[in-house]
Amino acid sequence: MSIQMVDLKGQYQKIKPEVDAAVLEVIESAAFINGPAVSRFQASLESYLGARHVVPCANGTDALQIAMMALGLEPGDEVIVPSFTFLATAEVIALLRLTPVMVDVDAATFNLTPVAFERAITPRTKAVVPVHLFGQSCEMQPILDIAAKHGIAVIEDAAQSIGADHIWPDGRRQKTGAIGRIGCTSFFPSKNLGCYGDGGAIFTDDDELAAKMRSIANHGQAERYYHERVGVNSRLDSIQAAILDIKLRHLDEYCDARRRAANTYDAAFAGIKELATPVRAEYSTHVFHQYTLRVLDGRRDQLREHLASRGVPAMIYYPVPLQQQNAFKGLVPADLSLPVADRLCTEVISLPMHTELNAKTQGTIIDAVKSFFHA
Ligand SMILES: *Cc1c(COP(=O)(O)O)cnc(C)c1O
Repeated sequence: MSIQMVDLKGQYQKIKPEVDAAVLEVIESAAFINGPAVSRFQASLESYLGARHVVPCANGTDALQIAMMALGLEPGDEVIVPSFTFLATAEVIALLRLTPVMVDVDAATFNLTPVAFERAITPRTKAVVPVHLFGQSCEMQPILDIAAKHGIAVIEDAAQSIGADHIWPDGRRQKTGAIGRIGCTSFFPSKNLGCYGDGGAIFTDDDELAAKMRSIANHGQAERYYHERVGVNSRLDSIQAAILDIKLRHLDEYCDARRRAANTYDAAFAGIKELATPVRAEYSTHVFHQYTLRVLDGRRDQLREHLASRGVPAMIYYPVPLQQQNAFKGLVPADLSLPVADRLCTEVISLPMHTELNAKTQGTIIDAVKSFFHA
């Protein structure tokens, strides 16, 4: 078997009887849309996250869009986003004719820094989207403090961090996504809690916002065929919800498996001075959606080729910072300089990371990396 970035088939084999029975049950019930499986999963996730409301929707991008629509943001309002992230985070901002304001990130954690956030605030700033990139929380205490001081809504993008705990200065833990005014996540198959198609969800503790987001996700209806506002059609279907309800029971053990694999990589690469292994922030646990190294000697692309020649896949998340994407031409000031994000795009490389990595496969990957550096 060839080595893969993620092994969804192997993961499925271990839960096949449970999943197959749940999928069949939905098919036999014919409750495909908004069936009992959706409310069951919603309740399970609320309890797992410690969030008052979970609003399921069709995907993580919709989750972000519905969150911004519910906050009543208007054209020209500014939303601050890290420039080193998946495009979706800023795409919905542009789609809603809001202004994405891209800011630099921390070289060690890859995440939005409180300093960059504060510096980018203007009187038009209405929201900030901390993205908990690669499975580790942003430093939320200062981000929440700054946001509160300026009346800015915090929308967490927890698409890569579900299951990760933010650790408050007093040691208390809280699940990422359940911290800001609104949290968003994705159940894309390769995410840490992935379904077998598309899916997403929005979290909030605010009753009124939750009701509004539920309505927006359902054509702006509060009551059937009475439409209060213009919304969208964004649903999590019952089959996906049934699968997710089973996978959620395994999420903590999946996070542990990823952490164990990350520890093995860390130990193996500790002596290679050309590589920076992922930094573990003291204010977060890490659920390693990606295991991302920085190649410090400028040979990132050669390393990737070397790995490929030995049958080891590796991916570049992300090759282009948001401010350089053609999609945002005209929305980004010409003189915008975000040196850390620019540099990270040339340094990062992500190795295979999933719940099914065994010692033999990881050994092959590690040997391939080491042989490149003659380590
Ligand atoms: C995957 C992802 C999204 C989008 O989720 P989809 O379900 O693919 O729409 C948004 N933000 C981040 C950081 C992601 O990784």
